Amino acid sequence: MPKNPKPEQRMAWHAGHAANCGCRPIPAGVVRLFVERGLPVPTETARVEVAGRKGQEQ
Ligand SMILES: [Zn+2]
Repeated sequence: MPKNPKPEQRMAWHAGHAANCGCRPIPAGVVRLFVERGLPVPTETARVEVAGRKGQEQ
């Protein structure tokens, strides 16, 4: 990954990583990039993380 990745680069990197490796969930900030664009979040784990975070904020 580049030192200062663009949002699209982070999305592409994490989507590829999640598809090939389950070592960690996609960070909430990257999940948000998908949500903001109306794109499906690549993993179930990430969806659960967003749902939990939303519940805590409200
Ligand atoms: Zn990994």
